[in-house]
Amino acid sequence: MVVCPYCQREIELGLDTCPHCGVTMIYFYKCKRCSQEIAATGILKFCPLCDADLSDQMN
Ligand SMILES: [Zn+2]
Ligand SMILES: [Zn+2]
Repeated sequence: MVVCPYCQREIELGLDTCPHCGVTMIYFYKCKRCSQEIAATGILKFCPLCDADLSDQMN
């Protein structure tokens, strides 16, 4: 579970939008391979820049 930064209510991990207030959820990653910081709506499994595995990079 993650907490919505806007309404402070718990939402299920991986949702693109908060079901309570409707805000778009942004997830931040830092790629270990190319050192780029990436903001995405929803869960990213792979770096869009270098295709590195991001599955252990949640927040
Ligand atoms: Zn919310
Ligand atoms: Zn990368």
